[in-house]
Amino acid sequence: MRQYEIAVIPGDGIGKEVVPAATDVLDAIAEVHGGISFKYTSFPWSCDYYEQHGKMMPDDGLRTLQNFEAIFLGAVGDPQRVPDHVSLWGLLIKIRREFEQVINIRPAKYFRGLASPLLKPNDFDLLVVRENSEGEYSEIGGRIHKGADEIAIQNAVFTRKGTERAIRYAFELAQKRRGHVTSATKSNGIVYSMPFWDEVFKDVSKEYPDVKTTATHIDALSAFFVTKPHVFDVVVASNLFGDILTDIGAAIMGSIGIAPAANINLNGKFPSMFEPVHGSAPDIAGQGIANPIGQIWTAKMMLDHLGHQEMGQHLLNVVEDVTHSGVKTGDIGGTATTQEVTQEILKRLKR
Ligand code: ATP
Repeated sequence: MRQYEIAVIPGDGIGKEVVPAATDVLDAIAEVHGGISFKYTSFPWSCDYYEQHGKMMPDDGLRTLQNFEAIFLGAVGDPQRVPDHVSLWGLLIKIRREFEQVINIRPAKYFRGLASPLLKPNDFDLLVVRENSEGEYSEIGGRIHKGADEIAIQNAVFTRKGTERAIRYAFELAQKRRGHVTSATKSNGIVYSMPFWDEVFKDVSKEYPDVKTTATHIDALSAFFVTKPHVFDVVVASNLFGDILTDIGAAIMGSIGIAPAANINLNGKFPSMFEPVHGSAPDIAGQGIANPIGQIWTAKMMLDHLGHQEMGQHLLNVVEDVTHSGVKTGDIGGTATTQEVTQEILKRLKR
């Protein structure tokens, strides 16, 4: 029996409701398939923790997390009590940066039983690989001259290493999927970094002659996500472009409440972190009505990452069956509670 050591951070708001639902489901799928189990260690790091201790996590928090095989996180943030930049940079972004989680992946697909807002949803199944460590979200720049003469400079940073590893990761994934990578570019308007991005994309593509490639400007690409998402397999994008595209991906599926994500460490020195796209949703927290699917699909991505793709696929099929059967939460047009959806998933998994 292989036991995985997982650090669990439910965090704030609905994170505290959907994380236990997802760990119950993980335990059930492990039991059904056999051979693996999970040992969870839960950490209360959150805005509650901040109010008691004046920080989002203890000073040695990262050292503690380093020993786990993966981090399973709910959501962080409670802007009424703690400013977002404090809660995010004190926990989430700290983990992503210090643990060199340089790739962020977010799938989006047509989900059975779910009304996509697209007129003709077709069948789409795409995966966005987002560079997660540099690009437009650098901390290099500054502001001078307050008032009418004020100047703000924000530098985008693209290293060959960072660009290449994100693009290579996309090609590796495409080889295991439908063999097509689309590069999000804007080399007609951004004259240094994007031509560089295109060059690296071309160079890396030579190593994968079996993978088809397309480069599309981000403005057109965003429109295509809405008008013809079925043409995409893997899409690779810089930090900012990926951020925007993945929100469109969540929107065309029908609800942010089902969208999963993973922050991947590639060098094996630190654990990767699995967290859904949605936030703590303070507007519905504590009511037991949050959609647990985003967190559960995120658990599926963790299973894939740990090498159990078959279990992951089984889990996702069952979740889609449940949605298709009409047992769904309010955000996707149903009336079920978090618990009811989770129980239905558990019941069908064990069948
Ligand atoms: P953040 O700034 O952390 O992203 P937020 O509240 O601005 O937090 P989300 O938490 O992503 O953003 O929520 C956006 C909207 O989607 C809210 O109205 C929220 O209730 C809804 N929502 C998000 N996640 C879920 C979910 N799992 N189930 C149901 N509704 C959700």
